[in-house]
Formats: sequence, C-alpha cells, structure tokens
Amino acid sequence: MKGLESENDRGTCLSDWTTFGVPASLERLVHCRSVDEVRGAIVGASERGDALHVLGGGSNILATNDVEGTVLRMAIEGVESIDGAPSGQVRIKVGAGCVWHGLVMYSLEQGWSGLENLALIPGSVGASPMQNIGAYGVEIEQRFAWLEAVEVSTGSLRRFDYADCGFAYRESVFKRDLLGQFVITHVAFDLLLEPELCLDYGAIAAGLKAAGVDAPTPRDVAEVVMAIRREKLPDPAVLGNAGSFFKNPVLSQSAFDRLKKEHPTVPSYDAPSGVKVAAGWLIEQTGWKGHDRGTYGVHDKQALVLVNRGGASGRDILQLSEEVQQGVFAKFGVQLEREVNIW
Ligand code: FAD
Ligand code: NAP
Repeated sequence: MKGLESENDRGTCLSDWTTFGVPASLERLVHCRSVDEVRGAIVGASERGDALHVLGGGSNILATNDVEGTVLRMAIEGVESIDGAPSGQVRIKVGAGCVWHGLVMYSLEQGWSGLENLALIPGSVGASPMQNIGAYGVEIEQRFAWLEAVEVSTGSLRRFDYADCGFAYRESVFKRDLLGQFVITHVAFDLLLEPELCLDYGAIAAGLKAAGVDAPTPRDVAEVVMAIRREKLPDPAVLGNAGSFFKNPVLSQSAFDRLKKEHPTVPSYDAPSGVKVAAGWLIEQTGWKGHDRGTYGVHDKQALVLVNRGGASGRDILQLSEEVQQGVFAKFGVQLEREVNIW
C-alpha cells in the first residue's frame, strides 16, 4: 500500500507538504520511517532545544508563520493482519505514514469493509484518530481497535485502547488534553468480513439510486462517496484548502430551541451531546459563501471550506476565518469552532 510521498518528491517549504499551499519555511524536516527514527528525531529536537511539530499528509494544517524547530514527518509504512479481532472481523495494524484513502481501497480489495464511507479523505492513517475522522455517517472510532504512540517526554511506546482515546465528534484526547505529547506510530482497526453498510446519509442513498444500484456492495458505497466528494469539494491539487475549516457546532437543546425559534429552517441533526447544526448553512446565510478576496476566499460550493486561490498567506486565511466566525456569531449567536490546526 502506498505511503505518503517520499522526501525526494518535495522541498523544505511547508507549502510543499500541506494542502492549503500557503508559504512557510521549515527550519528542520526529519522523515521518520520507524519507531526508532521517531525516537531519534525526538531526542535530536530535545538536544537542540527545538520545538517539535508532527506532520502527516498536511491536509488539516494552516501555517501562519515560518516554522521554527523540528518538523517530524511520519513515513512509517506497512499493513499487517494481527490477532485479537472479534468474531466476524479482521484486525489490521497500519503504519502511521500510510495514505488514508489507500487503506480504504486496500481494505475493499481484500473484501474487508467498514471504511467505505471514509473514502477519499486526504491525509495519513496516523492522523486519523487525531480528530476521529468522519464522513457520511461513519467515524473511525467505529472501526478503531487501538493505537501505539511514542511519548515525547520519555520516548516510551504506549498503547491506547478505545477507552483511552476520548473520541468525540471530530475530537480525541490527542487534539485536546494530550496535544503535542504523543506521536502516533501505528493504528489498529477491526474490519468487517460481512458488510454492515451505513446508508443513512441522504446523499449516499440518492447517489446509489441515481447509479441504479439496488443491492449495494461496500465498493459501490465507496464509489458513490468518491463521486459526491469530487463533485462538491475542491481538489487541493487545484485549489488550496484543508477541507472543513470549522466544525458543525453541537448546541444544547435549549440553545437549539432558541435558534430554531428565530430561524425555523436551520438544518439540524440529533447528536449524542445535543443538537448538531450545519455550520455550512450558518455561514451561507451570513452571506460568506463564495466570498472572493482575489487570492483567497470561501468556496462557492461548500461554505465550510476556505480556499487559497494562489498567493494567499496563512494570516490572510486565518483573518478571514475570524471574520466568518464573527459574522455567524453576530447573526445567530453561535460560536463556530475551528477544525483546522493552526501552526
Ligand atoms: P496533518 O494535516 O498532517 O496533521 C493534522 C494534525 O494532526 C496536526 O496537528 C499534526 O501535528 C497532527 N498529526 C498528524 N499526524 C500525527 C501523528 N502520527 N501523531 C501525532 N500527531 C499527528 N476530515 C474529516 O474528518 N472528514 C472528511 O471528510 C475530510 N475531508 C477533507 C477533504 C479535503 C479536501 C481536505 C483537504 C481535508 C479533509 N479532511 C477531512 C481533513 C483532513 O483530511 C483530516 O483531518 C486528516 O485526518 C488529516 O490527516 P493528515 O495526515 O493530513 O494530518
Ligand atoms: P452535506 O451532505 O452537505 O451535509 C451538511 C452537514 O449536515 C454535514 O456537515 C453533516 O454533518 C450534516 N448531515 C447531513 N446529513 C446528515 C445525516 N443524515 N446525519 C447526520 N448529519 C448529517 O455535507 P458535505 O459538506 O457535503 O460533507 C459530506 C460529508 O463529508 C460530511 O460527513 C462531512 O463531515 C464530510 N466532510 C468533512 C470535511 C472535513 O474537512 N472535516 C470535508 C469535506 C467533507 P457531519 O459533518 O457531522 O457529517
């Protein structure tokens, strides 16, 4: 299975390694192909007194400055079947540097399912637990078994089971309490031998119907997801972006009731801790969808996505994101939270 691009493919400007493509020079870039190389990079950074940053596929990062210190780029590859899967499932252990979409396609080729709704999400396997990546009604926590990570302060390898990860909506303990403390080296998933398709998400059912598929396979679902994504989302190779810049806010029932009273058409979905509101709709209603500032702006098909049309700086985009947040707050009283990681 394909790993992320090799170090020879690109240079030492962060724009070469991130999908936003904004300029930022890198002081030191270290490619790590094994757990020992991760440990070595951590020790080297510590001896130099460097700040340490971890880079996967660079699809969820916005750099607003040149990056001082050591950037440790995950390049651990490999996928292997291992023991421990529940009955009817197969457990695989995957290197953090593998390409996420490559894993989805590989699993389908093996006849293993459960990841099909997550096709075409950019980035690496190692970053997937960071924000519990999700799309079209599925999140990785549903197929997650455990992960291994090197603790930055001690160099020891620690295992995190499901209960240790604090997964929530686009969240995990690694993005909150343990931010910057661990480098994820491997992730294990339990994949299904008999498919259990998740077709609840309206666009999937409509896509399958349009394609004339009555009895879908996991591969059919992946194909529909890929088609919808290609239609709606900007390709980072053509237009710089990091996917959704903001999370969909989850409101308490009482806050949602107040919002709904004033704005009866607000799209909403029940969520474990309240009511999830479509942030894209809030931004669109505030007039930001398609907003154009020449070199950057808000995507015209999906208002959650901020884009670098070429030549924007990270600060430009961060400033725009703050204006969007202020506009939404002023109109709806809802505070949008950033999903993208700011460097
Ligand atoms: P990076 O951007 O390299 O890093 C993200 C964060 O994780 C950084 O803080 C970094 O330090 C940290 N990190 C990375 N690897 C490790 C590691 N091994 N150990 C410790 N920390 C690490 N996300 C979704 O959830 N659903 C979607 O449907 C989706 N669609 C997208 C569509 C587009 C067009 C784009 C550009 C992005 C989309 N995203 C989506 C966001 C993004 O792809 C995911 O968050 C992805 O998991 C990021 O992976 P990455 O390897 O690129 O991480
Ligand atoms: P969409 O289908 O236009 O729907 C808008 C929002 O409504 C989505 O964000 C989604 O929340 C929510 N939604 C729609 N149907 C739902 C259902 N049946 N149950 C619960 N929530 C529902 O969304 P889109 O922008 O085209 O994105 C499609 C999927 O890809 C979404 O899951 C989205 O999260 C994911 N995606 C994520 C990123 C990223 O960077 N994070 C980028 C592109 C796409 P959810 O987001 O919670 O699913």
